Amino acid sequence: MGISRRDFLKLSGAGAAAGALGAAGVTSANAEEKEALRTAGSKKTTTICPYCSVGCGIIIESKDGHVINVEGDPDHPINRGALCPKGASIQQLRENPKRVTVPMYRAKGASEWKEVEWEWALEEIAKRVKKTRDDNYETKSILKSPDGDKEVIVNRVSALASVGSAAMDNEECYLYQKMLRGLGVVHIEHQARL
Ligand code: SF4
Repeated sequence: MGISRRDFLKLSGAGAAAGALGAAGVTSANAEEKEALRTAGSKKTTTICPYCSVGCGIIIESKDGHVINVEGDPDHPINRGALCPKGASIQQLRENPKRVTVPMYRAKGASEWKEVEWEWALEEIAKRVKKTRDDNYETKSILKSPDGDKEVIVNRVSALASVGSAAMDNEECYLYQKMLRGLGVVHIEHQARL
């Protein structure tokens, strides 16, 4: 049987690749076995991707307190198993030495951040929100119109703003909105729109 130069190159390329994989002990059958071993004994938890408002379903596999695998949830009606690169890399949110796990504070004029207690941080935030609101609360504003300027009641504070999160559920959003509207905050944004 005659063999062309092109056939020869194809055959030798395929043979070399198969040889290299075989030498490394990788076949399609044992690749599946290895995957099973890697995640054996792990706990599966379903969750929602917090990055954007699409809200894809994710299966997180964890073992010994660490996330060891992340997959799109095939049973989730929104993404049906698919994840975008951002969602697929979500393991790095947890398994990341740079992850900040305690509140940090950088005082005015300081160049360094320092760790602080939650209690102190929450009290400080509440104090500053209250002061900013009290100092900047407007009850009335001038509405400009071609028929003449008109004074209107606004009851608002423009010196505060809020950025919400796609990880919040309906109930949290309800309470959060209620609190912000109660304070008079009008600049209410969402992280998924940034
Ligand atoms: S960031 Fe990607 S994976 Fe996450 S919810 Fe949005 S589209 Fe889905």
